[in-house]
Amino acid sequence: MPQERAPSGTSLYVHLPFCQAKCHYCDFFSLPAEGQDIGGTLDAIVAESAQRSPRSPRTLFIGGGTPSLLSIAELRYLLDALEEHTGFRASSSETTLECNPESLDRDKAAALLDLGVTRLSIGFQSLDPKVLELFGRVHTTDQSLRAYDAARQAGVRSLNIDMIFAAPGTEGSSWGTALGRVLDLEPEHLSAYNLAFEEDTVFSRWLDQGRIKRMGDDAELELLYQTRAAARAAGLEPYEISNFARAGEECAHNLGYWANKSYVGIGPSAVSCVQGRRAGNAKALQTYRRRVGEGTGAEAWSEQLEGAARLGETWWLGLRTQRGVKPSEARETAGWQEHHDPAETRARALAGEGLLEESRGCFCLTEQSLALADHISAEFLVAPPTPSRSSSLSAP
Ligand code: SF4
Repeated sequence: MPQERAPSGTSLYVHLPFCQAKCHYCDFFSLPAEGQDIGGTLDAIVAESAQRSPRSPRTLFIGGGTPSLLSIAELRYLLDALEEHTGFRASSSETTLECNPESLDRDKAAALLDLGVTRLSIGFQSLDPKVLELFGRVHTTDQSLRAYDAARQAGVRSLNIDMIFAAPGTEGSSWGTALGRVLDLEPEHLSAYNLAFEEDTVFSRWLDQGRIKRMGDDAELELLYQTRAAARAAGLEPYEISNFARAGEECAHNLGYWANKSYVGIGPSAVSCVQGRRAGNAKALQTYRRRVGEGTGAEAWSEQLEGAARLGETWWLGLRTQRGVKPSEARETAGWQEHHDPAETRARALAGEGLLEESRGCFCLTEQSLALADHISAEFLVAPPTPSRSSSLSAP
């Protein structure tokens, strides 16, 4: 069945799955580019965009993978097609493209600005050569700094730097120095993630084999608080657990996710969520290309979140933000009509225990309860229905 087009204004995410190499911690759907049919995949993404991209998206985010790996000609093909199908250049308040240092130079940054991109997110991840090697990154510290300079010289006004803390073996050493160097660059936005050992990654295998060790909860928490203090001192306010921005530079696209707003994802493995219906595209490139080519949609699974599950998820997501959750907004987002609001009742109980605080009508984590963020927000989750898989689809 062809998929319905989401309402005009819905945010759009485009997934480009190719990278130069697979990083050791990465569980995103990404593939080393060598030997892959990049052109054929790009054609399929453009075809899927024609079939189901929302018109006039509020925001556009091109992620992956490493979108900057594409040539300027390939990026022009993609962005011109997206413009034709959506009109994003007039409608999008923020158009972000993810880059890695080894594939971003001044010419590409300038071309991206010309093509309607307004914001670049550059994956530094670390400035320590040993950590870059441990992570399996293919760029050097110098390349990161050069890519950042190149973007600035090209005139990019809104820059995010992605970093990861709590790398194995770095206890008490390099993070503070690296963070200081990154903040000295004066980016408008910083994302600093606690390293996670996700299933089916090289890192999870090395962890099982005892080749690497986790830093430990207390040390990781210390780094989180150190990061918040340093970012604040540099004028970047925390607005989500892992994200920091100058006033007005918060990522509008990601704020939409945390507010549980609708979005459409196109590309292999991309997930969409439109009015509580969540669906994911096929991952396998051949399957994805074939299904888009047949015009039947690339969806491999879907689930409909209703009622208490949708309300609970709205709280679970929103509690990641510094602003927190306004009960009436959460009810509206989740379409909750009943008089009794179980999520608000739970939030009031948690506030009574000092685990949440109420400020300007919103419930949010306290500076202390940030340490328990995952546990507290999980209290709001209600088991969702099992995703339905169409028997007519091949495995993703
Ligand atoms: S560059 Fe990003 S998407 Fe690609 S493998 Fe590394 S972490 Fe994953």
